[in-house]
Amino acid sequence: MASIADQLDAVRHRIADAARAHQRVPADICLMAVSKTFPVGAVLEAVAAGQTVFGESYVQEAVPKIERLGPARASTCWHFIGPLQSNKAKLIAQHFDWVHGVDRIKIAQRLSDLRAASLPALQVCIQVNLDDEPTKAGVAPEQVLALARAVAALPRLTLRGLMAIPAPRDDPALQRAVFRKLAALRAHLVEQGQVLDTLSMGMSGDLEAAVAEGATIVRVGTAIFGERD
Ligand SMILES: *Cc1c(COP(=O)(O)O)cnc(C)c1O
Repeated sequence: MASIADQLDAVRHRIADAARAHQRVPADICLMAVSKTFPVGAVLEAVAAGQTVFGESYVQEAVPKIERLGPARASTCWHFIGPLQSNKAKLIAQHFDWVHGVDRIKIAQRLSDLRAASLPALQVCIQVNLDDEPTKAGVAPEQVLALARAVAALPRLTLRGLMAIPAPRDDPALQRAVFRKLAALRAHLVEQGQVLDTLSMGMSGDLEAAVAEGATIVRVGTAIFGERD
């Protein structure tokens, strides 16, 4: 099996190739390594291979992992990308640098209240439900502007952009069509005066389509660390 360093290298090449194919600068796309279900040793291997940005989905699993990094914590940046529950907000506000799944003002308010004054503001993306599935997380596109205004007003949060987890599709044209919707939504919010520099979209199976449509952060797990159980 290829090492984590080799897999990281391959993913970096995929991003760079996709960027160049769409007249983008590879350095404008941040690779987040999604380490959920993998042990701290895998994270340290990635760190040794130059990776700095990591994503986790489960608070209980992530917090001990981050704590076990020791001195390596300072040179890494941790993004919480899982579903947000209010009873987990305190641990998230204490241990993470970014949160991607904000989809209601109540949880945003709570994260802002719980973010210690000694830490920088928590960097936030609003999760948008692009698939029109009522059970999925994410705010409806029509409600994003109102939520963005409310989040941007919170003192301990910095609103950075939009995030989506579309249903998996095999057809690259269909993948791109969904990502294009998120990009258009950001453009609309920017027109309305919001400052948003981030589009968090694209995973192992569709990162090329996401880069083609303007992703600034791609969240990649399987292609770096291998299949999860
Ligand atoms: C697990 C996860 C990823 C990574 O998915 P892969 O297909 O393994 O690359 C990306 N984003 C979110 C929100 C996830 O939960």
